[in-house]
Amino acid sequence: MEETILVVNSGSSSVKLALFDKHHRKKASALAEKLNRKDAIAHIDGNSEPIELPEGANHQQALQVLIETFTQQKRLQGPPLAIGHRVVHGGETFREAALIDTDTIAAIEKVSDLAPLHNPVNLVGIAAMQALFPSVPQVAVFDTAFHQTLPEKAYRYALPKRCYENWGVRRYGFHGTSHYFMVQEAARLFGKAVEKTSIISAHLGNGCSITAIQDGKSVDTSMGLTPLEGLVMGTRSGDVDPGLFDYLSGQGVCASDVHAMLNNESGLLGLSGHTNDMRTLCELAEQGDKPSRLAIDVFCFRLARYIGAMTASLTHLDAVVFTGGIGENSAEVRRETIKHLSLLGLTIDPELNQQHGKQSGNRVSHADSRFPILTIPTNEELVIAQEASRLASL
Ligand code: AMP
Repeated sequence: MEETILVVNSGSSSVKLALFDKHHRKKASALAEKLNRKDAIAHIDGNSEPIELPEGANHQQALQVLIETFTQQKRLQGPPLAIGHRVVHGGETFREAALIDTDTIAAIEKVSDLAPLHNPVNLVGIAAMQALFPSVPQVAVFDTAFHQTLPEKAYRYALPKRCYENWGVRRYGFHGTSHYFMVQEAARLFGKAVEKTSIISAHLGNGCSITAIQDGKSVDTSMGLTPLEGLVMGTRSGDVDPGLFDYLSGQGVCASDVHAMLNNESGLLGLSGHTNDMRTLCELAEQGDKPSRLAIDVFCFRLARYIGAMTASLTHLDAVVFTGGIGENSAEVRRETIKHLSLLGLTIDPELNQQHGKQSGNRVSHADSRFPILTIPTNEELVIAQEASRLASL
């Protein structure tokens, strides 16, 4: 019987599962999406043949169907050894992953106001797995935990201190699991200890964030109280003037509509008016579509400004690292971003960049570049599986 570790990643309208063997080799994956909608659907291993879900299936129902399917297909033979859950917000309570018990659940519930679209569904995933596998150790791996090392000057906003003391308003940072993986991988590639490795890590997917990591520790990051702050993203605006809320309320747009606009209708989608998909935007821009070109330009310029800003938090730098769907795959975004940074001495090698560093040990920078520039495929699921094993003492 194959022993497995299960990874559960519940998003606002989707849930992803990954099965690893005990040596952390991935064996299977599943995705259920459009949950709580009539057309809820699931797929195993990216197969085009869908798995039937009950109409309007919720997270709990979808998880049950996916586990049954894994069991029927004999990918899951008996309970897993451990289950790792991605949990978006751990507030200031969790500096690292935690074994799930009643105290952990209470602490995740306590900070749910800070991630209302995510923490409640993360808790649903935990409850569903506890019901199916009551005796299996479960572990929560937090997107925020890696950033709990930020110094106060980096995490405090210049607001009255009651905002922080009474309501926990501070920069928390997200994508921590991915940024953590980046510094582990960079250290491995350079043959250095993680504690001596310093990078600027740009995670560019549908959500985007950038982190300064000094000697293995997060010291500055672009996402803040929520995952809305910082870089331009697929549908999120990133930084805007907070005066926008008052100005738009004067134009008759209420705060909840501004919030929805900033989260769902902005970023690449808002600027281009077409799509949040960077690949499509690059194709449209190539054909001469001006709004698509503008969306790419704003995206790359904001990113370049943030790379520059992150150097203020570091005393040395081993590499600038790109990851996520855009960071790993878009030679154009890397090239256009680095073009703005010649004063820092960063230069791209056009050929290595075009191959995404695949034949050069991940390097896309020119030999003359003051600092190496790398692309590293992220693997958050692997980190969650490793953390689940570690805390379950496997
Ligand atoms: P993620 O959220 O990490 O899956 O990343 C999604 C983003 O990656 C979308 O904007 C995709 O268009 C983008 N992406 C994936 N492949 C490519 C590619 N070859 N070129 C440009 N963007 C890409």
